[in-house]
Amino acid sequence: MTTPSLDTLQTVFGYESFRGDQQAIIDHVIGGGDALVLMPTGGGKSLCYQIPALVRAGTGVVISPLIALMQDQVDALLELGVRAAYLNSSQDWREAREVEQAFLNGQLDLLYVAPERLLTDRCMDLLERGRIALFAIDEAHCVSQWGHDFRPEYLGLSVLHERWPGVPRLALTATATTVTRREIAQRLMLDDAPHFVASFDRPNIRYRIVEKSEVRKQLLAFIKAEHDGDCGIVYCLSRARVEDTATFLCEHGIPALPYHAGLSGPVRAANQSRFLREDGLVMVATIAFGMGVNKPDVRFVAHIDLPKSVEGYYQESGRAGRDGLPATAWLAYGLQDVVQQRRMIDQSEGDDSFRRRLGAQLDAMLGLCETVHCRRQRLLDYFDQHIEPCGNCDTCLEPPQAWDGTVAAQKILSAVYRLWRERGQRFGAGHLIDILRGKLTERVKEYGHDSLSVFGVGADLSESAWRGVLRQLLAQSLLAVDHEGYGTLALTEGSRAVLKGEQTLMLRRESEKKTRGGRASAS
Ligand code: ADP
Ligand code: ZN
Repeated sequence: MTTPSLDTLQTVFGYESFRGDQQAIIDHVIGGGDALVLMPTGGGKSLCYQIPALVRAGTGVVISPLIALMQDQVDALLELGVRAAYLNSSQDWREAREVEQAFLNGQLDLLYVAPERLLTDRCMDLLERGRIALFAIDEAHCVSQWGHDFRPEYLGLSVLHERWPGVPRLALTATATTVTRREIAQRLMLDDAPHFVASFDRPNIRYRIVEKSEVRKQLLAFIKAEHDGDCGIVYCLSRARVEDTATFLCEHGIPALPYHAGLSGPVRAANQSRFLREDGLVMVATIAFGMGVNKPDVRFVAHIDLPKSVEGYYQESGRAGRDGLPATAWLAYGLQDVVQQRRMIDQSEGDDSFRRRLGAQLDAMLGLCETVHCRRQRLLDYFDQHIEPCGNCDTCLEPPQAWDGTVAAQKILSAVYRLWRERGQRFGAGHLIDILRGKLTERVKEYGHDSLSVFGVGADLSESAWRGVLRQLLAQSLLAVDHEGYGTLALTEGSRAVLKGEQTLMLRRESEKKTRGGRASAS
């Protein structure tokens, strides 16, 4: 038996059957219900509002923050014979006028509008005068003030419920933490709407997190060994690093393009369209790149700086392997990342609760990096989805050993304690490691640190092992980066328990095989 929704799927869109919850969502909205839809990117959210818009009387109004994407969607719909149009700032008034007229005449199935445009008096008046089938709020997580894509205009969208209480509203996002989900429902006044939550697992993506040493060389070795000639994305934190890394890859025979907000609009657009069109290009980018970019055959996503949150990491790494074929999410992470990010949080604007939230997000990300359990399990835990160990991540494939780092941690914490207590001095990671390993550097001599009782007590561990200890102490907040912003280290509340021997500290040790591989590739 065909229903109107299935019929539309087949005759208009040319697809055989629905995926996942699509049918349930579509029928619910056709029946006039509100809904919150959480599906990973590529899951098929668009049909969830496009089909009800076609089946219900009137025009489906789609609120989308991405002007470039609107154009693509409308073009694709027009090709299918769907009467679609958009209103945004890229149009002149004459074009906008035509679209408005078509809407008023009931000649549009779908109308895409940017949120800032929607909230103008002119647009509100227009909508009052036409017939609306539904409101679809795309990228609904933009309403979350804590998220990485917050857009203040989204807060104004609660007005839709007040002015059109009878029109079904559908909020869609690929972001799925329980907190964000609740926040979306609350801010958009979707309290009674059912949540349709799809699985967020991306089984074809192999997750791997490596210890950072010389990151550009590691990246190059990774690409050459596993993804030579493949299309990929490399995420960096700063514009300068984007430029350097793109140049470096090009110099070593990997065709790469930069993308960041400091490039002019035309350059960004040109690089993006080359990336989409050509095979085997690597886009080196800040997180400004990616939202709404739909390239199914991205074979790897690499992060050479630590992402600020698990959620951001999930979104960015999720741009790999949308075609369902094997893909890799590769992340290099080291001591310096923890130092830098803790410092950035300390120096960020905003009140304490804001900083605490950033801190909690970072902690979750660090937890993912330091876990000795399945990465995917940990990642999905964050979205309240629970799975068995996956067999397709680095820890499943080469389980890391855990070792008792309590004594090592005590050595380093007591060095920090002594320097501060006895001399009122604070130092960064490098100098502390030199002291522990008994290295007579200029700095050590200058400060007379060779006379400290802790000098040389850590000669049994390599420098990289010490960096690992420090990194994990920082990750667990058993050591803090100072507030003055020089990257010097200080004790925390938690340090005491370790110093007193009340807490044992099990630390992650990279598997032998991987360490060797990492060294070989970095040399
Ligand atoms: P999202 O918005 O969730 O990222 P899209 O709506 O863009 O995902 O859909 C991703 C791709 O999957 C599109 O190419 C779309 O045409 C296709 N798709 C969606 N639903 C179906 C279906 N039921 N059968 C076949 N293809 C589908
Ligand atoms: Zn796993």
